Amino acid sequence: METADEARNQGSSVSILEKNPKVVFVLGGPGSGKGTQCTNIAKLFGYTHLSAGDLLRAESESDSENEIMIKNVMKEGKIVPSEVTVKLLQQAMWKIGNDKFLIDGFPLNDENRAAFENVTGIEPAFVLYFDCPVEEMERRLLNRNQAREDDNIETIKKRFKVFLESNPPVISYYGEKGKVRKIDAARSIDQVFESVKTIFEAQD
Ligand code: ADP
Repeated sequence: METADEARNQGSSVSILEKNPKVVFVLGGPGSGKGTQCTNIAKLFGYTHLSAGDLLRAESESDSENEIMIKNVMKEGKIVPSEVTVKLLQQAMWKIGNDKFLIDGFPLNDENRAAFENVTGIEPAFVLYFDCPVEEMERRLLNRNQAREDDNIETIKKRFKVFLESNPPVISYYGEKGKVRKIDAARSIDQVFESVKTIFEAQD
């Protein structure tokens, strides 16, 4: 996988490093409300919302070399290899060229985190962490009206297990750097957004 420096040397029109975009990682279990809140944040604060899951789903529908692998990994509720996800995120950032990105649902584990930082040279400004009990997330996902292939109870249980095992080291890593903004996500969408707004207003 090419690093940001290599990409620049190979003539990529806009290096991520040159633009030095502000990146906010948006983390929380499946169904904690990341996508819902990111849509609102993007509208109000001018960020581009990049959902790692949506980018991977789009890639798995395209004619790419990774099509089948991504489909299988996601069906199992597992984590797609870092190099695939980081490349998709990096490409999306280059293409869109905004200077503020919300990266939703990534990094899921510490290896994801290290790969992103090494390849892009970007550290997040902060991490928004939606804290929500598993029972509430499960209820929301089973109600989610998008007929997503991974929103069935079997895959949901696997996704929770992987999330609970893999994500805490990422939160601890950024917690030690004072970068985690934890939000009680078990409240209504509007109440959660009030807390989110306070955090972003303090930033911009
Ligand atoms: P994630 O991106 O974290 O998987 P979503 O934003 O897609 O979560 O939300 C999952 C489902 O829960 C959606 O159907 C959404 O409308 C609903 N939802 C999101 N936030 C809340 C909330 N605070 N209270 C109730 N339902 C919510």
